[in-house]
Amino acid sequence: MRLDEQTRPDFPILQRIVNGHPLVYLDSGASSQKPRSVIEAMNRYYERSHANVHRSIHTLGEEATELYELARDSVQRFIGAASREEVVFTRGTTDGLGLIAETIGRTLAKDDEIVVTELEHHSNLIPWQLVARDRGAHLKAVPVLADGTLDMAALDRLITRRTRVVAFAHVSNVLGTITPVAEIVRRARAVDAITVVDGAQAAPHLRLDMPSLGCDFYVFSAHKMLGPTGIGVMYGRRAVLDSLEPGRGGSEMIKEVWIDRAQWNDLPWRFEPGTPPIAEAVGLTAAIEYLEKVGMERVGEHERALTRQTLEGFARTPGVTAYGPPVSVDRGAVVAFAVEGLHPHDVAALLDAEGIAVRASLRDAADAPARRRRHLARDVLGVQLAGRGVAAPGGGRRAAFGAVGGPR
Ligand code: PMP
Repeated sequence: MRLDEQTRPDFPILQRIVNGHPLVYLDSGASSQKPRSVIEAMNRYYERSHANVHRSIHTLGEEATELYELARDSVQRFIGAASREEVVFTRGTTDGLGLIAETIGRTLAKDDEIVVTELEHHSNLIPWQLVARDRGAHLKAVPVLADGTLDMAALDRLITRRTRVVAFAHVSNVLGTITPVAEIVRRARAVDAITVVDGAQAAPHLRLDMPSLGCDFYVFSAHKMLGPTGIGVMYGRRAVLDSLEPGRGGSEMIKEVWIDRAQWNDLPWRFEPGTPPIAEAVGLTAAIEYLEKVGMERVGEHERALTRQTLEGFARTPGVTAYGPPVSVDRGAVVAFAVEGLHPHDVAALLDAEGIAVRASLRDAADAPARRRRHLARDVLGVQLAGRGVAAPGGGRRAAFGAVGGPR
């Protein structure tokens, strides 16, 4: 049985009929839907065990703490971290990247350099812009080549003795490019720079193993990998976490407090101020268990097949241009494409009429005749297009949206 046929009944929302059609959800890159096991685990937690963690000495407090810390063990196993102390819970990828930027930012001096790439989601660009501005540091970006891969020769030129941070995505949310994490880490480490990997689009798709990636930080969100919103993970290499002062303050991250100073808590709680997302941690455990049961290898195989089918379908479809690495390259299951003469909103509206949930880019308008739009959308549907919005490179009168399915 195909993976999607096997898993579809596990997702209650997919029982919805939208505009007379069984719902097809292709916007997982923005946020995935949740299997019943995740929803039920969170309900059970609220119905039976809710209390605050690490402070309440009663049955519910102990249960909540145990469940919250169990989530840390699940994440450690899922990402192959060397120890549970390396797993810090955040509110999501953006929150984790912000926390890292603020924390490392305080250690930067004027004229230090931060290297990012042109592939970055804004969540891995803006925090570094703010840090560069505040510290008088310089921000540089590794260019993307025509085939959607990073210009590794340029990376060598951009990394200098002054480079303190190299921050980059594992999988691009626009082009689907998988970046050579271990190789970039090796080059960054040669100048003692800290490496920060945005794994938002990788964690739901690839089997992760932190020691073999070798990076100092790796962040992702639960809501893109079948888990709830409001929780994410910041993996930090023990030696680096040990060397850093906490970025943010509040209860939970301190052991003892005086008016003028405090003693920081142990890892990982030192980086978790305030009441954490407890029910969400329970949901994340259930999501990880679901993914582990399916098997990340199987998830990967299914997505590679979908990506191949999509790219080959695009190649046969007149008026459609796909961007990003070609089918022969190992790439993620995001396919950016442009449909000549078509506005993304028109395509989204047509797909919505077919009960297919997608998100269209608001950029790059075009006003093709309605019949042509409908015809092109059918072509698009015919190649099993899935979708999240991207803008067509170059703008003009092209429109773009799209990506392929699977949990993302
Ligand atoms: N980085 C990448 C590569 C992403 O795709 C996303 C979500 N689209 C984010 C960061 C931000 O994730 P979140 O909104 O969960 O913080």
